[in-house]
Amino acid sequence: MIRVDLHLHTKFSGDAVITPKQVVDALYAHPIVKGVAITDHDNLEGFFQVRKLAKSYEDLLIIPGVEVSTTQGDIILLGTEEKPAYMAELENVADYAKGRAALIIIPHPYRVHGIGDAAEETLADAVEVVNALATPQENKLAEKLAKARNLPGVAGSDAHRPDQMWAAYTEIDAEPNVDSVLKAIKNGQVKAVQTKHYLNVGTSFNH
Ligand SMILES: [Zn+2]
Repeated sequence: MIRVDLHLHTKFSGDAVITPKQVVDALYAHPIVKGVAITDHDNLEGFFQVRKLAKSYEDLLIIPGVEVSTTQGDIILLGTEEKPAYMAELENVADYAKGRAALIIIPHPYRVHGIGDAAEETLADAVEVVNALATPQENKLAEKLAKARNLPGVAGSDAHRPDQMWAAYTEIDAEPNVDSVLKAIKNGQVKAVQTKHYLNVGTSFNH
């Protein structure tokens, strides 16, 4: 089993201040969380830098990801090192992901920047049922959606500042490598965990 924060932003997101070095240092120092998906907005530079820095540490898992801005809201792709066009249609982004065998995660569906009602039908592999920057009510609705659609529920901190890292993470019944983790998420071998709540901390700006 490995614990992974599946939603984290570096300074390459524009609205975040976390440096790649801060991610790697904090992950190395953390007692139990040993993996992270870097999910910057429409950008993979942060992922490439974090992965490079993490190479010196054998037991840290860095998963490629991107939080894509679509015309309907945000969607997260995991397992691709490329990104689709900015502000494409959600449907086209889903096709893009499938063409690259990337996982589609629906982040904070009922929060600001979420895809809202489109979450009921869009192609997806999992729903983010715990987003540490969402309200308990918004997360509860996301959980309901995951159940209704019979999709696995995952968790991520959505950290934009260093103190927000690892506020939520996903326990994944997998080997510590990207392929195994992605497969386990798809199979629902996951448990969402939240350790901290941040309410009213500028969620209208950070997503
Ligand atoms: Zn985000």
